[in-house]
Amino acid sequence: MSPRPSHTLRPATVAAQAGGLLDDATGGVVPPIHPATTFVRDESYVPAVDGNVYSRSHAPNGRMVEGVLAQLEGAQEAMVFPSGMAAVAAVFRTLPAGASVLVQSQIYWGTTAWIRAFCDRRDITLIEIEAADTDAFAQACADHKPALAWIETPSNPWLRIVDIAACAQAVHAAGGLLIADMTTSTPVLTRAVSFGADIVMHSATKGLNGHSDVLAGALACADANSEIWQAIRADRDMAGAVLGPFEAWLLLRGMRTLPLRVERMSSNAQTLALYLSDHPAVEAVLYPGLPSHKGHDLACTQMKGGFGPLLSFVVKGGAEAALAATARLQLFHRATSLGGVESLVEHRHTIEPHTGIPEGLLRLSVGIEDAGDLADDLGQALGQ
Ligand code: PLP
Repeated sequence: MSPRPSHTLRPATVAAQAGGLLDDATGGVVPPIHPATTFVRDESYVPAVDGNVYSRSHAPNGRMVEGVLAQLEGAQEAMVFPSGMAAVAAVFRTLPAGASVLVQSQIYWGTTAWIRAFCDRRDITLIEIEAADTDAFAQACADHKPALAWIETPSNPWLRIVDIAACAQAVHAAGGLLIADMTTSTPVLTRAVSFGADIVMHSATKGLNGHSDVLAGALACADANSEIWQAIRADRDMAGAVLGPFEAWLLLRGMRTLPLRVERMSSNAQTLALYLSDHPAVEAVLYPGLPSHKGHDLACTQMKGGFGPLLSFVVKGGAEAALAATARLQLFHRATSLGGVESLVEHRHTIEPHTGIPEGLLRLSVGIEDAGDLADDLGQALGQ
């Protein structure tokens, strides 16, 4: 039987084989790193190879990782950036002064904080809305006619599930675009473009890279000819928020194991969510894989093969009890971030005390270790 045509290959194959990239010069099965910042022209003064002129606009390693990400997302094109926040900023910088935007409330606090300050400076009307409430979201779209709406699902750290298709329909009907931060899901679990998102955003620092050793961001689009995509590309080329070749190479290497890692992180997180649900020291568990979670049915239709690495739970006894539990953990590192192979724990109230986070809430990023070892560690830390 002949192999499937490359455009129909399944994600695990695309990722493992880095979209078929090889080192053409040596036959190596790993693509090379291209550190050159400038590229030669031929005698007729035409760029000699692939139109490459200067690496702010022509970054070979960036293009490699973008090609693989676009395939994984089922997107027309992707662009990488030097951080997730640089990708967020790239989207918002396309807005004209005086525009209106709708942003989901209680998402990653850094996104909210930056958007608030940016909109204030630019005279942009910012409407914050609980997007998991689809009716409220649709009403806000109809009322404010936003140029774009920003959602994050599952949200960090509340694990709210937003109906991407319903939000896309509502904002499109109002003449705007839907941008979805899919950092927690990764394209392995949800391809937001297939649900109607116009642009997908990732902190590639998280699950896409997966090894806590690259800071990067990414966008992927449904329509590469759209005005917004062209504006983002022009801004990146000229303003220079470009991912370096070494980081792009490392990111591509990390992405080769993405499906495997996401599968394992998700099954470990599911095991821990069930374990914590039954634990006497735990008040509540927020994980969309639990049938008791408000967004579980929607998550089952939007997320395929698992519910991701992010899990929050509330320890009985408030901040003191939660911090005491984190101090006793031996396998979970007390550190921020998510989506890496190693498990992390964070007391979010210490980080964002004024956002309504319960004082006893601990956020876990569940890694790929043995689930039994992780459960034992939580058990001893919670005191049973
Ligand atoms: N979006 C989400 C959901 C995040 O969790 C983060 C970082 O924690 C970001 C965006 C920002 O990404 P970065 O830290 O790569 O700039």
